[in-house]
Amino acid sequence: MIITLKKNAPAEEIRKLHDSFEEKGLQVSLIEGKDFNVFGLVGDTAHIYERDILANMWVENVQRVSAPYKLANRMFHPEDTVVDVAGVKVGGKEKIVVIGGPCSVEGREQICRIAQEVSECGADMLRGGAYKPRTSPYSFQGLGYEGIMDLCEARDRTGLPVVSELMSADKLDEFAANVDLIQIGARNMQNFDLLKAVGHVKKPVLLKRGMSATIEDWIMSAEYILSSGNPNVIFCERGIRTFETYTRNTMDLSVIPILKERTHLPVIIDPSHATGDWKLIEPISLAAIAAGADGLIIEVHDHPSSAWSDGAQSLKPENFQELIRRCRKVAAAIGRDM
Ligand code: PEP
Ligand code: MN
Repeated sequence: MIITLKKNAPAEEIRKLHDSFEEKGLQVSLIEGKDFNVFGLVGDTAHIYERDILANMWVENVQRVSAPYKLANRMFHPEDTVVDVAGVKVGGKEKIVVIGGPCSVEGREQICRIAQEVSECGADMLRGGAYKPRTSPYSFQGLGYEGIMDLCEARDRTGLPVVSELMSADKLDEFAANVDLIQIGARNMQNFDLLKAVGHVKKPVLLKRGMSATIEDWIMSAEYILSSGNPNVIFCERGIRTFETYTRNTMDLSVIPILKERTHLPVIIDPSHATGDWKLIEPISLAAIAAGADGLIIEVHDHPSSAWSDGAQSLKPENFQELIRRCRKVAAAIGRDM
C-alpha cells in the first residue's frame, strides 16, 4: 500500500502515522522526496481500509499496489534512483555511462593495458571477470583473487571504478573491499541467498537478467536486495533465451521503457552477451540509447582472437571508440550526455 502525504505535513504528524502503521504489524518505509513524502506499507494490508487512512487530514492519497514488488516500485518512489559507483553516477537524468573491458581478467599486464585503452576511448568504468561462470567445467574459470588484485591495479593506474562478477557469498568480503560495482550474473539472478548477502552491504549491485527470467522475476530479485537493506541496484539486460539461434541470446529492448515505468532503478544494457557477435554490438547499443538506457556494458579486448573467453563478442578498442562516438550522437538527439 502506498500513502502519499500532503506536501506540508508536519514531521510530528508523519511520525504518528508511521507508528500507527507499525503498531498494526506492517513494515513501513518513508521515502522523502523533493516533491513527495510517501509511505510504503509492506505486509498484510487486507485489514486496513483506504477511507480510514484518508480520514487523516495530512494524507493526500492512498493506493493499493497489486504488484508484488514494493521497494522497487515507482509508485513508492516516484523519483529516479541515481546509483553512485565510486563517483560515477548511474541513472536519472545523469550522463549515460559506458563500461568497457575484457570478459575475463587474463593477468595484470592485460587488464592494465585494456583499462588504459578503454579509458582513452571514453569509458567511465572498467569490467573484468575474475570468477567466471562457465558452461563447461573444463573452460577457463577465472584468475580468482589474483584477478581481483589485477583489477585493483588497473583502477589505480586509470582511476576507473571496476565491475566484476560475484558468484558466491563466501567471496563477499573480498568484493566489498575491492570492487566498486558487484555484478550478479544471469545464472545467479535467482540465487536468493546471494541476493540477500549483497543486500547486506551498501556496495552498488549490477543485477543481470536471468536468461529465462520474466521481467517480474527480475524485479523480485532486485526486491530481495532492496529489502535486505541495499538501495543501490542497477538492472542489466543481457539477452534472453528464445528459439532464435542466429544470435547467442535475444536482446529484449522493450525492458528499458517497461522497467523505467514500473521501477525507479537505473537500467543498462549488455549487447555483448545479448548478441554474441561483435558486429551486432554497435547497432544494438545505438538502439538501446534511443530507447532510454542509462548505460552500456561492453566487452573490449585488444586481441579478441586470442581472448581467454568471449573473443567473438569482444570489440577491438578502435571499434569501441567509434561506437562511443556514434552513441554520443544518439544521446544528444534525446537530450542526454554521454
Ligand atoms: C559476464 O558479464 O561476463 C557474464 C558472464 O555475463 P552473463 O551473466 O550476463 O552471462
Ligand atoms: Mn563474457
